[in-house]
Amino acid sequence: MTAPRSHSLIIGAGLAGLAAADVLAGQVGASEHQVTVVEPSGRVGGVLGTVHHDGWLVERSADCFLAARAEAVALVERLALHAELIGVEPRARRALVWHAGRGVPVPAGFRLMAPGRADGILTTALLSPWGRARLLFERFVPRRLPSTSDDDESLESFAVRRLGREAFDQLVQPLASGIWTADPARLSMAAACGDFLAMEREVGSLWGGERARLRRQGGVPEATGARYGQFVTLASGMETLPRRLADNLRSRGVRFVTGSISTLERTDDARWRAEGAGLDAATTTADTVVIATPAHVAARIVGHIDSSLAADLSGIDYAGSCIVSLGFARDRVAHPLDAAGMVIPRVAGRRILAVSFSSSKFPGRAPPGCVLMRVFLGGALDREAMDLSDDAMIDLALSEVGQLLGAQGEPKLVRVERWNHAMPQYHVGHVARVARIEEAVARHPGLALAGAAYTGVGIPQVISSGQAAAAHCLKTRR
Ligand SMILES: Cc1cc2nc3c(=O)[nH]c(=O)nc-3n(C[C@H](O)[C@H](O)[C@H](O)COP(=O)(O)OP(=O)(O)OC[C@H]3O[C@@H](n4cnc5c(N)ncnc54)[C@H](O)[C@@H]3O)c2cc1C
Repeated sequence: MTAPRSHSLIIGAGLAGLAAADVLAGQVGASEHQVTVVEPSGRVGGVLGTVHHDGWLVERSADCFLAARAEAVALVERLALHAELIGVEPRARRALVWHAGRGVPVPAGFRLMAPGRADGILTTALLSPWGRARLLFERFVPRRLPSTSDDDESLESFAVRRLGREAFDQLVQPLASGIWTADPARLSMAAACGDFLAMEREVGSLWGGERARLRRQGGVPEATGARYGQFVTLASGMETLPRRLADNLRSRGVRFVTGSISTLERTDDARWRAEGAGLDAATTTADTVVIATPAHVAARIVGHIDSSLAADLSGIDYAGSCIVSLGFARDRVAHPLDAAGMVIPRVAGRRILAVSFSSSKFPGRAPPGCVLMRVFLGGALDREAMDLSDDAMIDLALSEVGQLLGAQGEPKLVRVERWNHAMPQYHVGHVARVARIEEAVARHPGLALAGAAYTGVGIPQVISSGQAAAAHCLKTRR
């Protein structure tokens, strides 16, 4: 067997790292080019994980992904997993907001912050008559055009300016918190909600922009809120995707090494040398490197080669969150659970962010006669929640689902997942920071960064970032 002539090193076996390995392994003949993925945990998928237990299927983090973007669905199809794709159950294609002691549906046609239908707004119980009038007035609010090319605005400032304070407090804040677990006063519109920003800039209003989008789609979708109708999962759980991809990569000769990279250096012959724990001789030297770890880990890895790049990477803030999964016998929960879940406005003064009705969204998540729900705590606005003990979190979650959903008695399943520093925060200025990071990376041929920290936290965006990083490496390697 001939020795490989070139070597690509992928740091991190989350979805971004695996997507990068997929492109690199496909580009060059296996005997010519070796691809190695280094991962400390000994498993693939990063934050993605699925637990199967006595007929329960519990997702440890992500439970679905957006089907409207091509990357994830295309990967699922290529891995011959398409028969496993399932959409949200029709009766669960709506979201509830906790309001005045009950769960109230998001107004018909309202998409995160875009009002698509007047009747939905006129009839919603979530807003006072003044709040509804102010929301309907959105189409007459003058557009704000950027004064410089990197002008940015927070989601809170944008939504209050366009929709009014009440619609922000009762609708936009809880829906956005359910997606980004972010502080809306710091969350960058340009980084997180570029499509809504474009509606204001190009059409003049969210109302006009959303109507135009619906006309292009040829009708009004039935789904409301966070676009649940367009979300899909895998019948056997989200972890199947990285596992199947890793199996596929192994079959194409990609090596997986259990180890951890601490630093990167340039060698005299313009290759890369990695240092860390658990690495063998075949792993340490590479022609191309994709760093697909969280940004604060990437900052440490590049610290020796580029201090300004490291500073920009370590400036990306992370928040934590916690999920308490609770399973009950169906007759122990009074609420019909006829939605994807319920989000809780911060102004309601409760400690939880949202409850996802997992067994209503997808089949096969709970044994017959039982229901599964996931309670979310923490996020950027309640960082102290991560200091609670597991028992305190469980007590809190049980008390909240008792009051919000009428869940009574002993749960049949209880599981706590802690995600410390796992959620990158796209603060105002994030797009400019990522542009500086890309400029800095371009100074180092054969190096690329991938993952949730940069251009999107959702699964399709993370896959896309891994693919783009691999393409960049191939283009710039020496
Ligand atoms: C609780 C939660 C719920 C979510 N829900 C959804 C959802 O419903 N839908 C959706 O689309 N998205 C969701 N997301 C977001 C999405 O799951 C993530 O953005 C995505 O999976 C991140 O992938 P990644 O490869 O960038 O990072 P990760 O999955 O974090 O992978 C990074 C990898 O790098 C490894 N690593 C770390 N340090 C080193 C080192 N020194 N050397 C080598 N390797 C290292 C880690 O062990 C890890 O395996 C959720 C995220 C969380 C945390």
